[in-house]
Amino acid sequence: MPPASKKRPAPAASIKKPAKKAKNERSPAASSQRSTRSPGAGSPPKKVMTVTLGDKVMTPWHNYESPKETVQDGAFDGTLYFCEYCFKYTSDIEKICAHNRFCCAEIPGTVVYRSGDQEIYEVDGGEDTLFCQNLCLFARFFLDTKSVVYETAGFRFYLSTSLNPHTHRRRVTGFFSKEKKSWDDYNLACILVLPPYHRQGLGKTLVAFSYELSRREKKMGSPERPLSDLGLRGYQSYWASTILSYLSRLPIGTAITANDISEATYIVADDVREALAYMDVVVQQGNRKVICLDRWKRVVDPAYELDPQGILIPLD
Ligand SMILES: [Zn+2]
Repeated sequence: MPPASKKRPAPAASIKKPAKKAKNERSPAASSQRSTRSPGAGSPPKKVMTVTLGDKVMTPWHNYESPKETVQDGAFDGTLYFCEYCFKYTSDIEKICAHNRFCCAEIPGTVVYRSGDQEIYEVDGGEDTLFCQNLCLFARFFLDTKSVVYETAGFRFYLSTSLNPHTHRRRVTGFFSKEKKSWDDYNLACILVLPPYHRQGLGKTLVAFSYELSRREKKMGSPERPLSDLGLRGYQSYWASTILSYLSRLPIGTAITANDISEATYIVADDVREALAYMDVVVQQGNRKVICLDRWKRVVDPAYELDPQGILIPLD
């Protein structure tokens, strides 16, 4: 769930702008994918206009330049081909076809969550570096809040995966990155549901898992800002359903604060307030504020008629 709405001065997390590389440093592309074509005439396009992932063709949401080694042979035509299993890339369709025939890469890391066909893997950016770098490079075309970096060692990546029904091999459908040590207590640095897998609830699953990690660490969690439009929507959806689920279990009339909700849900208090404002459930009643959960039902379904006796919970 990617692109971003707001700009900020300087990205401070997982996926940053590529650092200036040393002269002999290679980009994350597989060395085996280097082209052998002779340089062509003229100036080839450098911006990536089309991205393919396996058999899926996508138009990038952000037109970054293609990695240097994919354009230096003059054969680059604006398309970058990614392997959907190892995320190695090339601008040469013949090379990706050959790679696809022989690639037997499996998702690196460890399975940390399983539900039916879906599995979430934890991958250490310092151990499976090339995979994470290539994944980040792919993600950059669909994120504008943070750019990809080659320095992935300080992050863990949590990948949602599913089986390709044709090959019966496991492939990545989305991911989020998390700093191994976050001084700001962010529980998520960057999140992306791969475009072919939108509208399947994966964003909410990944967000929910990031809070499950916070729960295990016994730390309140909040995502690094700014959030993309899609990211914000995913968070609003998760926050609303989680808070609603918690409040619905309370007896009517229970006095509660945003901090109480925070402690129960591991959503930081500021995000709880933001979610309640988004849900439009806080109303002034005399000299106190109360949460009227019935108002949320009207937000979800505009035709819903408010029940004047809807649940009222004093807030703060
Ligand atoms: Zn591959």
